[in-house]
Amino acid sequence: MQPAAIRGFVCLVILIAGALWLAPAGEAEPPPVQTPSSEDQIRSALFGGVPMDRWKEGLLFEGIRPQPWLQSAANWFPGTEEVQPNEMRITFMGSAPMIRPGQMNTSIFVELGNGDKFVFDIGEGSVANYVAARVALNELKRVFITHLHVDHFGALPYVWMFGTWAGGWHENLEVFGPSGRTPEYGTAKMVEGMKMMTNWHRDAFDVFPVGKGWDVKVHEFDFRDNGGLVYDRNGVKVIHWQRSHAKDGASAYRLDWNGLCFVWTGDGRPSKLDAKYAKGCDVYVTELQPEVVEINSGVQGVPPFLGRYTIDTHHTPAYAAGYVANQVQPRIFMTTHMNFDPFLNEETVAEVREHWKGPFHFGAPDGIVVNVTKESIWVREGILPDYPNSRAPQFDLTNGQLIVPHPRNDRADIQEPFVREQQIDPKEYYPEGYHPELLEEWPVPGDLVIPVEALPENLKESMGAEWRLREKNRRALEAQGDKP
Ligand SMILES: [Zn+2]
Ligand SMILES: [Zn+2]
Repeated sequence: MQPAAIRGFVCLVILIAGALWLAPAGEAEPPPVQTPSSEDQIRSALFGGVPMDRWKEGLLFEGIRPQPWLQSAANWFPGTEEVQPNEMRITFMGSAPMIRPGQMNTSIFVELGNGDKFVFDIGEGSVANYVAARVALNELKRVFITHLHVDHFGALPYVWMFGTWAGGWHENLEVFGPSGRTPEYGTAKMVEGMKMMTNWHRDAFDVFPVGKGWDVKVHEFDFRDNGGLVYDRNGVKVIHWQRSHAKDGASAYRLDWNGLCFVWTGDGRPSKLDAKYAKGCDVYVTELQPEVVEINSGVQGVPPFLGRYTIDTHHTPAYAAGYVANQVQPRIFMTTHMNFDPFLNEETVAEVREHWKGPFHFGAPDGIVVNVTKESIWVREGILPDYPNSRAPQFDLTNGQLIVPHPRNDRADIQEPFVREQQIDPKEYYPEGYHPELLEEWPVPGDLVIPVEALPENLKESMGAEWRLREKNRRALEAQGDKP
């Protein structure tokens, strides 16, 4: 340091020390009251840039803004926000046909303010994201499958088996899906095949409580019945229509509830039917395949002729997605079932924008969350942890009891004694003075019936959380005069 610099430094230190000495100890003084700025000044500062009563916000349009109850307008953190009574919340739990760690196979979760929850497609790997989003597996009871390509239903056996084990005892798993041109290609036949595939698993898991768990209800509808109603309960209606996806039996769905609407088209070529049945829906979601097949072949490894042929016979290119969106005129247009890659994204947006000038967002990568009310729509990135814990199973505790159905099998029913006799005596491996009381036999002869007040406080809280929210929202909806 030069002498002049040292002098300057010493002066600075003295100044700071003086300022600290002068500052009052303890609480800061409130700012002094001053003469208010003039009305004109305030108006021009707060509203000066607002043509037609609003700021010019580029391509973020009227009605696209964060709702006041969001904990963060940038991110969704699972478990931190309740679905509001008049809200529809949509989460993309899987967003691609080609599975990879950041993008599981397609699945869209729709939660409504009345407590109802719907799964649209349940692609392989998507369960990991449901778990990370703090959805209990026994909450996944209504699954709508657009078509029987395995990237749209691959996780169904897991949801069925482990969703039953994890408390799915009191409600049937319901699977909605199209017929095929002949019965062997219909949804019911797929479920029959799934039953055969899980034969060993179900008998094995019958040593656990099962209740209604294994009784899958299949609602197979005629794929040709365009506009037909496939679901009508609790104020929620779902219709379907055909998609041109190279084989008969591909369908789109539209869900309407409480003046809000969601469409998931599933896979298929752009069609007049989409424009007709999705017309005016709030959230219109279609699939999209980036068309840069030659570049993609270098990056993704898909031979260009295979990419081109697959798109042109099965899928919706970005230009077409925007074209149909412009006919549908949704409040927000979203695309999913697409690779989310920086080298593709700008190109994709530019192609969509050729025809669609309204609000647009990718339904990708996994974890994208959409909050929808009549007033506003907002899209955020959900923060899904890599190592989440499972959420406790959710139960309806209306009758004041938790009923755990009696297992149908005992180990002795399904296992010969020999291999059990080879089990090492626990006394050999538990250390001296430590021997847990093992639960080797189911402890009650019939159903285990636990009054809610007898439940440990943490279980009462965690297992009844969704049920309490449903009751709270039901009262709020009733209070505003809506029919449940
Ligand atoms: Zn697909
Ligand atoms: Zn497909």
